[in-house]
Amino acid sequence: MDPITLHTPLTRLAGVGPARAAALAKLGLKELGDLLAYFPREYEDRTLRHEGIPRLPADTPVCFSAVVAEPFVTSRIRKGMELTKGRIVDGSGQVSVTFFNQSYVRQMLHPGQSYYFYGKLTGLGPRRQMVSPQFEPEGKGEFTGGILPVYPLTAGISNRLLISLVRQALPCLDQVEETLPEDLRRQHRLAPAAEAYLAIHFPPSWDVLARARRRLVFEELFCLNLGLTLLRRRRAGQEAIPFSQTDLTPFTAALPFPLTRAQARAAAEAAADMAQGVPMNRLLQGDVGSGKTVVAAACAYLAWRSGCQAALMAPTELLAQQHLNTMAGLLGPFGLRIALLSGSMTAAQKRACHAALAAGEIDLIVGTHALLSQGVDFARLGLVITDEQHRFGVDQRAALAAKSGGDLRPHVLVMSATPIPRTLALMIYGELDLSVLDELPPGRSPVATYLVHGDKRGRLYAFVRKQVGLGRQVYIVCPAVDQEDPEGMKAAEQYGRQLQQQVFPDLRVGIVHGRQKPKEKQAAMAAFAAGQTDILVSTTVIEVGVDVPNASLMVIEDADHFGLSQLHQLRGRVGRGKHQSYCVLLSDSRNDLTRQRLKALAATTDGFAIAEEDLKLRGPGDFFGARQHGLPQLKLASLEEDMVSVHQAQAAAQALLAADPDLSAHAPLRRRAEQLFRASGDSLN
Ligand code: ADP
Ligand code: MG
Repeated sequence: MDPITLHTPLTRLAGVGPARAAALAKLGLKELGDLLAYFPREYEDRTLRHEGIPRLPADTPVCFSAVVAEPFVTSRIRKGMELTKGRIVDGSGQVSVTFFNQSYVRQMLHPGQSYYFYGKLTGLGPRRQMVSPQFEPEGKGEFTGGILPVYPLTAGISNRLLISLVRQALPCLDQVEETLPEDLRRQHRLAPAAEAYLAIHFPPSWDVLARARRRLVFEELFCLNLGLTLLRRRRAGQEAIPFSQTDLTPFTAALPFPLTRAQARAAAEAAADMAQGVPMNRLLQGDVGSGKTVVAAACAYLAWRSGCQAALMAPTELLAQQHLNTMAGLLGPFGLRIALLSGSMTAAQKRACHAALAAGEIDLIVGTHALLSQGVDFARLGLVITDEQHRFGVDQRAALAAKSGGDLRPHVLVMSATPIPRTLALMIYGELDLSVLDELPPGRSPVATYLVHGDKRGRLYAFVRKQVGLGRQVYIVCPAVDQEDPEGMKAAEQYGRQLQQQVFPDLRVGIVHGRQKPKEKQAAMAAFAAGQTDILVSTTVIEVGVDVPNASLMVIEDADHFGLSQLHQLRGRVGRGKHQSYCVLLSDSRNDLTRQRLKALAATTDGFAIAEEDLKLRGPGDFFGARQHGLPQLKLASLEEDMVSVHQAQAAAQALLAADPDLSAHAPLRRRAEQLFRASGDSLN
């Protein structure tokens, strides 16, 4: 067989068949190189303790060596419950060890032999006890006796399996490319690549781990900065149509409400950008409900007044449809010709739309990814707006921007409701200018949020009924679509039907989820928006953008299955009108950390604070995880802790680029910087 390399598929490894390969692929693991770059989420301290059994601390997991004092015996305490018990000793004390339904350990624990045990001790003196510890023969050192990596997992992939796979990949460590030039490494005292990759998986000590981590964080930030600078530079040479009109007075005068100060400021910033001959590149960031859509409409208005077409791209059909309605209301009266382009339209409808766009007969096109497809060409595209930008890749933004025709680029406004702490925003969106809506329209009262245990369901249903009785509407959000889900989470389809038939037979219950046909989805949403259904049972398809001001209560089932920022987004669907609104987070979780997180969410409505909390708990890798395609995956950097590295890495990147502007003398670095953006779909070329 060929020797293994970084590109050897995982199926070559012991223990990986087709099913496991598929599960691993879900984690993004296909080749050995992927494994080495798959960093642990955290570590367990399983280093061997030497103080002797009596002095080991209780209630916290410890690892120690002990000898099996007598054969373990199994007894049956009741049907389906077996108890296997025995005693282990060291020179100074003893522990009574119990396993439940694990009678096979009898054959593995031999009297008179030494093992490493890892688990929590309880009790004192001769009554020290341990339940179901992990163990292995002394000196084996595979899972005990050191610092154990804990990897992010998925169904069918255990931590033990991952550990054994990463071990098998270690022989390729010396093929890992060293991206950092040696003088830079020396200057910043950074570990060499191979050493860092080894220690991040199997650290011999906490110090060595810290050193490895510092190098990898630095590398990540350094390459990110290089990549962003190259992107920005590429863009600097581009030209755009300068908008001739920047006066928003007619637009604002026609609005049913005055703009908030933040909206007015953001609109003015955009207007000033668009008057220039270089393309605007602006991120409009504002918490859910802060009124980003109106700012988008203001920009589209200026485009039209300046004789240009505008495109507004939304991540879902639901949202596109809704934006179409909003834009028709705000801009239709001025005479703008507004149309929809979405994937669910018939081929003939699409063709007609394409023709009208190319002929300049549409002023504002609202759509989904369909806007990016072949055949969509504009007569004079001056402005591209993407909503909920984190759902699109950088490349998709770029693809739309490239449709302007000719050498001119459209102005670009991207909108995001995922509040990103400023430091992070600057790093991630280093190529963009930033406008922030830091103020909600007046008259909103904060959504009262409660964390509720499932056994209070009866009272909750009564509360739902009461809200509907007051003429309000209710969202019930489930984590799953249907009951195939293995964890038995609430599923929109079944639960919706159950609620309709058994709990609220007299009320009108609608169902909406991502597996419905676009038509069904639209019908369900439209019925809810029109007040024809009282309760909408859904999945997270309603997470972004849906705007039904009459909805005053949101119930989130199995709330612990969602990230904090996601819960905050969901919660933003209520509290959009004048009615006092509520959000009920249902969770049966007993996990302290989980409950603490949910309580934190209940206690604040500040999206930025929530994002910071989320970031702290999960790290940017997860925070920007699979959902946030637009961003390079920052795997290790936790920005709070690593601000020093951020500055150092930025300065170092700028210095390097000054000396070697296109990185031609640093090929590995250039490849790595490109890779960061390739993973997110963009390219530097
Ligand atoms: P988001 O920023 O979450 O996209 P939207 O643009 O959907 O927020 O706006 C939320 C709601 O607030 C909409 O119903 C919109 O009509 C309303 N709204 C926006 N701006 C104002 C304002 N200045 N005064 C009052 N209501 C506003
Ligand atoms: Mg919105």
